[in-house]
Amino acid sequence: MRKDCDVAVVGGGPTGGYVAGKIASEGYKVAIFEQHKQIGEPLNCAGLITSRVFDIINLPETPVVQNKIKGAHIHSPSGYTLTIGGDKVRALVINRSMFDREIIKNSVEKGAELFLENKVISAQKTKNHVELKTSKKNDIKCKLLIGADGPHSKIRDIFALPNPTEFLMGMGAEITDTTLDPDFVEILVGKNIAPGFFAWVIPTNDRGTEARIGLCVRENAPYQLGHYFSNLFKNKVISSYLKNVEITKKMGGIIPLGVLKKTYAANMLILGDAAAQVKPTSGGGIYPGLLCANHCSSVAIDALQKNDFTLRTLKKYHKLWSADIGKELYLGMKFRKIFKSLTDEQMDKYIKKFQSEKITKIISKYGDVDYPSKLAKHLLKKAPSLIKLLPNVIK
Ligand SMILES: Cc1cc2nc3c(=O)[nH]c(=O)nc-3n(C[C@H](O)[C@H](O)[C@H](O)COP(=O)(O)OP(=O)(O)OC[C@H]3O[C@@H](n4cnc5c(N)ncnc54)[C@H](O)[C@@H]3O)c2cc1C
Repeated sequence: MRKDCDVAVVGGGPTGGYVAGKIASEGYKVAIFEQHKQIGEPLNCAGLITSRVFDIINLPETPVVQNKIKGAHIHSPSGYTLTIGGDKVRALVINRSMFDREIIKNSVEKGAELFLENKVISAQKTKNHVELKTSKKNDIKCKLLIGADGPHSKIRDIFALPNPTEFLMGMGAEITDTTLDPDFVEILVGKNIAPGFFAWVIPTNDRGTEARIGLCVRENAPYQLGHYFSNLFKNKVISSYLKNVEITKKMGGIIPLGVLKKTYAANMLILGDAAAQVKPTSGGGIYPGLLCANHCSSVAIDALQKNDFTLRTLKKYHKLWSADIGKELYLGMKFRKIFKSLTDEQMDKYIKKFQSEKITKIISKYGDVDYPSKLAKHLLKKAPSLIKLLPNVIK
């Protein structure tokens, strides 16, 4: 069967679901294609976001928010601990599957049509359209294609857009019977713990009895992911909270990093993880992806109104999202470069140095997981002696 629509969105994740609803609410015919049977499954996320996400999607926090986080204990390779925050709510823990389903439900209510179990297998640009084929043998012709199809985006490849510069590998689980402080996340760094990134334990209820545990590592880490994951349960810093835990659900996934130089082509845009719109310091992609989805929908609606899907019109999307969050993501890659260059000994040294009251106060005051550059600016202004500690990569 051949179907015509104004916009075809590939991917029923948060960015695809949200952008589809924004465009459909203007009266355009929008189709969402999702390869899986169910939205939000399989789970590939730790589910930690800021309240800015709910400001964007304009949906109620209840019942999606499971817990509220006030601070973090950051553990160095040798077990020095830096405690930050603790004074006010800084992040929300969400039921990620439910979050994705709520976004899609809202989009469908606004008029978007959802096609589950429809993997897009090809996309062909014609003179003024894009023609898609799906695994369910649906043929679709659209004026504009939005690729929100995740880290290994097929749409990005078909249209020969640049690839992210780096991919992190992640593994995690939902666990019960923990004895955690419900207000704090535990973060662990070190080359034997999570080479090239970090590990986390996030309490998912306000009693600290359930949690998400996981880690991400860089590509080509010396051991397989499973090795680091099983070691995490034995880590001496956190093992006392995890004595009798039971794994109830496993998860895994890929995080793409490194801003792309081009996120558009004639009749197409890419969005979210497909465009590596992800914070390189935390791996969080929900907030930046949704922020970019707002720019994506406004440019798409403008193009539909003018019936103009040329490069000249669509490149506005790239300019808008770059001006909004591009610099923060670029700086995030610079911070990541510094982080990757640190030895375990240096991480121990910095975490010990950061334990001073003056520095923890600055971190607690200016720390913002969505905008880490704000903290870096204030830290260097108020504690310039830290410059001496920076490794040679940026000096
Ligand atoms: C281990 C891990 C932990 C994370 N933790 C956090 C966190 O705590 N906070 C945070 O903000 N972010 C986190 N992230 C990142 C976050 O999950 C992503 O940034 C976010 O899901 C991106 O949303 P998206 O809509 O762009 O892509 P996705 O959520 O990846 O959605 C893409 C969708 O496209 C579908 N699809 C792909 N190809 C096709 C095709 N050919 N046809 C049809 N459908 C297709 C997929 O099935 C999927 O449903 C984490 C990621 C990982 C791997």
